[in-house]
Amino acid sequence: MNLSKSKYCNGIQCKKMLWLEKNKPDVKEEIDNESVLENGNYVHEVARKMFGDDINIEFDENLNEMIKDTEKALKNDKVVITEASFNYNNNFCSVDILRKDKDSYEIYEVKSSTKIKDVFINDISYQYYVLTSLGLNVKKCFVTILNSKYVRHGNLDLDKLFIKNDVTDICKSKLEEIEKNIEEINKYMENKNEPEEDIDLKCFDPYPCPFFKYCTRFLPEKNVFTSKLDLKDKFKFYKMNVYSYEDLLKYKINDKTRMQIEYDLYNKEDYIDREKIKEFLNELKEPIYFLDFETFQMAIPKYDDVSPYMQVPFQYSLHYIENGKLYHKEFLAEAGKDPREDLAKRLVQDIPLNVCVLAYNMSFEKNVIKKLAELFPELKSSLMKIHDNINDLMIPFRKRDYYSKDMDGSFSIKYVLPALFPNDESLNYKNLDLIHNGSEAMDSFASLENKTEEEQKVIRENLLKYCKLDTYAMVKIYEKLKEAIKQ
Ligand code: SF4
Repeated sequence: MNLSKSKYCNGIQCKKMLWLEKNKPDVKEEIDNESVLENGNYVHEVARKMFGDDINIEFDENLNEMIKDTEKALKNDKVVITEASFNYNNNFCSVDILRKDKDSYEIYEVKSSTKIKDVFINDISYQYYVLTSLGLNVKKCFVTILNSKYVRHGNLDLDKLFIKNDVTDICKSKLEEIEKNIEEINKYMENKNEPEEDIDLKCFDPYPCPFFKYCTRFLPEKNVFTSKLDLKDKFKFYKMNVYSYEDLLKYKINDKTRMQIEYDLYNKEDYIDREKIKEFLNELKEPIYFLDFETFQMAIPKYDDVSPYMQVPFQYSLHYIENGKLYHKEFLAEAGKDPREDLAKRLVQDIPLNVCVLAYNMSFEKNVIKKLAELFPELKSSLMKIHDNINDLMIPFRKRDYYSKDMDGSFSIKYVLPALFPNDESLNYKNLDLIHNGSEAMDSFASLENKTEEEQKVIRENLLKYCKLDTYAMVKIYEKLKEAIKQ
């Protein structure tokens, strides 16, 4: 079989993944990783600059062309090549960054992650195997990752932004293992009939396998994997041949999962602990401000005082109830500049001091406000007052004081809302255009500055609609709780 870096790593995770990819590609599920890919490409672009001028080997579907271009580039005595491509015995690889100095080489695998993982070591070891098998004198191997502690001030400091991990010794020690793995993968791929392969923790490590649904097709629709048990417990029961909800109930499982399963199996009525909900609501005093932020993350910080993957808020929606009436305010930053100062200034204007603020899953909103307070000392006291006055609308659902079968064991607003309002189309995110969830909002804002004026207008309108629905949904949930204690 023709292997590549990613195919080799997939084969290490599970050989059947490769077999299905080749023989039954239609049963594969799409796993959305667009923004991961975009981040990854940009990180590569920036990492290249660490070594000055380079020769880039352009991608060509005909890999032989890439190999030929690499051979040409390698005629230089001293050179940095990106995507240098090699093939040894049908094992192909493109090296993110290859440095050649006379007859010695260094290889750099660039990752957009802030942590080093085993899969990265497998990836670069495979490259080391290919290059050394071709007779290249590879002196050093580095896995380059992002430094989460780096904070941008002025121009990017690439030597601080990236951490180069020297993994040469591990690569050397893995040579025999790689040869054996490649042999086993090739043998496995000769199977004409679909090989048996049991599911295991490997199906989620290091990445969720896109064939999991296919490999578990024999299980009942509701099964141990749709329960809210943690992954290890799910596999523990699976190995005991305990698959169905009925069977799971015969064992000791945590109370929350038991509740999820019992409500589902016996079609139970909603559970409402009126006293507990009353206690929660008694802590809230009108006027109440319902707050929701949208944030985006950049692998490579674009602005000062930003670290890799820091949550940068660019938008908020604020519904508020005052004297029994509902009002709305909102903020959406301009594209192409650091949104935080304008957002923080507007936020302290929009939320009066000492009012009750409600968020859904407040740790996120609190963290965003705390970071803004650290950044803008002149706004710190007002921001921290907002921070200290936040209460969490999620509490009654997290504590299961209000539980409905359709929440399916979750207390996320994306489950709670449709469970409480199954027929209310005004609360259905699917009815929105363009932006239906937080990651679509994040991606849309991140790419906003590259759009035409007309496109920006449309995206901005839809961002506002999306975020407004988030806080409107919170208002409806709050009203539902109030209604519940009346009955
Ligand atoms: S779901 Fe698991 S067993 Fe099936 S192909 Fe993927 S990793 Fe292999």
